[in-house]
Amino acid sequence: MEKYAEINKVVHQHVEMEDFFAGGFTVKGNRTEQQQTEAKKMTENSIAELEKIAAEVHQCRKCELGSLRTNPVPGEGNPNARIFFIGEGPGADEDAQGRPFIGRAGQLLDKVISAMGLKREDVFIGNIIKCRPPNNRDPKPDEIINCLPYLQRQIELINPEIIVALGAHAARTLLNTNKPIGQMRGEFQEYYAGLGRPPIKLMPTYHTAYLLRNYSKENRKRVWEDMKKVLTELGLPIPQR
Ligand code: URA
Repeated sequence: MEKYAEINKVVHQHVEMEDFFAGGFTVKGNRTEQQQTEAKKMTENSIAELEKIAAEVHQCRKCELGSLRTNPVPGEGNPNARIFFIGEGPGADEDAQGRPFIGRAGQLLDKVISAMGLKREDVFIGNIIKCRPPNNRDPKPDEIINCLPYLQRQIELINPEIIVALGAHAARTLLNTNKPIGQMRGEFQEYYAGLGRPPIKLMPTYHTAYLLRNYSKENRKRVWEDMKKVLTELGLPIPQR
């Protein structure tokens, strides 16, 4: 829990900074004082709710992974993120530290985010399941079913404009399909966030762990093409590479 408090301190600092610099990545256009107060209140509510979800994840024993993990990995990032990156589940490094995407695949994800002209603090990063399966085996269907509501609540709170699903497991789970990732990637799909809520655009792309295993120029180019579509959709500039 101490680690999570640290993460939240960073998030709080970020929110304060954002107020100070109003007009940054997560703030669209000039806002009146009243709009700024409302936005701040909403952000504070989101932080409180995200903390609540993280606390629940820490207590969670809905499946055997709850007792096998070292640390759960609830996810972290900007509560106002326009992009939510979602992977499959924590690996050994993430399990050891309780933070998402900090191992080799995470370092590559950091590079992707930075190539997009963004910082890790601008986005939210999470996983389909919050605890590491032993020996990095695939999550079992009942583990996904038990864990998914945490992610669904995080998505609802953050309400990102775009979800980037990293890899087949994330894309298939969120889109409720069995299609191969190679068939889905590169085209915006729709994530249904619930009745009465507009669908959220979802870009499936290769997982950075897959990229590391298949580090070809073509695969790197494919992921970059997918991220360019995300930037274009958000009206953000595409940095030259
Ligand atoms: N792979 C994932 O899918 N998630 C992580 O957090 C790390 C590696």
